[in-house]
Amino acid sequence: MDKKLNIIKEHESVVRSYVRNFPAVFTKAKGHKLWDEAGKEYIDFFSGAGALNYGHNDDHMKQKLVDYILDDGITHSLDMASTAKVDFIKKFQDVILKPRGLDYKIMFPGPTGTNTVESALKLARKVTGRTDIISFTGGFHGMTIGSLSVTGNSMKRKGAGIPLQNTVTMAYDNYVDDHDSLTYLERFLEDSGSGVAIPAAMIVETVQGEGGINAARFEWLKKLENICRRWGILLIIDDVQAGIGRTGTFFSFEAAGIKPDIVCLSKSLSGYGLPLSVTLIKPEHDIWQPGEHNGTFRGNNHAFITATASLDFWKDDSFEKEILEKSEIVREFLTNIVTEYPEIKGEVRGRGLMIGIASEVEGLAEKVAAAAFEKGLIMETAGPNDEVFKLFPALTIPKDDLKKGLEIIEESVKQLVK
Ligand code: PMP
Repeated sequence: MDKKLNIIKEHESVVRSYVRNFPAVFTKAKGHKLWDEAGKEYIDFFSGAGALNYGHNDDHMKQKLVDYILDDGITHSLDMASTAKVDFIKKFQDVILKPRGLDYKIMFPGPTGTNTVESALKLARKVTGRTDIISFTGGFHGMTIGSLSVTGNSMKRKGAGIPLQNTVTMAYDNYVDDHDSLTYLERFLEDSGSGVAIPAAMIVETVQGEGGINAARFEWLKKLENICRRWGILLIIDDVQAGIGRTGTFFSFEAAGIKPDIVCLSKSLSGYGLPLSVTLIKPEHDIWQPGEHNGTFRGNNHAFITATASLDFWKDDSFEKEILEKSEIVREFLTNIVTEYPEIKGEVRGRGLMIGIASEVEGLAEKVAAAAFEKGLIMETAGPNDEVFKLFPALTIPKDDLKKGLEIIEESVKQLVK
């Protein structure tokens, strides 16, 4: 191991994770590429786990940020008004919410994904006066106590050291109707003798990222929404990973035709890899009094500058079309891999550019990712047993390099099965 990696091994807590799978020290990144200190070039199919949907160091965002910094623009302002914040709120309303017929108040819960989830769970309980939250197997919502309590991964939950309470985990859409957990839930709720308390909220990802690129069917999501409406349960969509274009539309739930009560956004929201998250709240649920949910880093002005610039991608539908075209290329390529190499016992999963192959062969996905890394492609694995290799290219990646990355995956698969 090189000397710099040894410094990490010696001094950083063992809880570190990605450095294990990507053993290099990176120095530079542009668009869909990264370079390590030895000058080796990598195609990035990882994109900061969905935090870099527009790639690294986008020129337009960078220029806006540099201009703002050189002009001594406000860096930190707590939640006082700044031009950076006002401009972001206005453009988010004009470019994202209004054209989609969505009416939400924008709340800044803190810098990162887990903060928006915490705020959503807390607000849903305050609005309804109820305690329980229903979440789903394979769901991932963050690492702080509240968001961990709705995360359906026993290894992660054990990190809390105590049992996590007031949540009920139900089976995620499993494509088998007679095992549909939502039907069971309705029966419990209909029967006043069942002892099942009506929950405050249900929290769900339309496509589970960490859980293994499991895409819920639209009719399942609609059924979930109907149950929420019938029982006055708040529907929270965690779009931290699946949002901001990853599945082909700005919000992942648009295609399913549902309208959540609360939406959690973070990761690619700033567009530039800077920490920013928002919780979108239906106006009638905007009931917190000033001070009931505050914090020091609720909205970073530099992140507002790049986030505002990133919304230019959404001024018309050309970006959506581009994502769709690229996702078709990827789906076709992966479908061919699964057919050509039956030894991997693979299944293509996902939606848009949130896509991957689940392999029934134990340990194969991790080996494919490791072989691809050697060949200059950065790609993560996901799922409870890391059985999925997960393709998260920048949505802006040119098609030729997208294909190059796919070819590296095929070479890696071929090398492992022969
Ligand atoms: N929700 C989802 C769906 C996520 O994928 C993640 C992060 N992987 C989080 C919440 C938590 O975000 P963060 O790591 O920024 O706290």
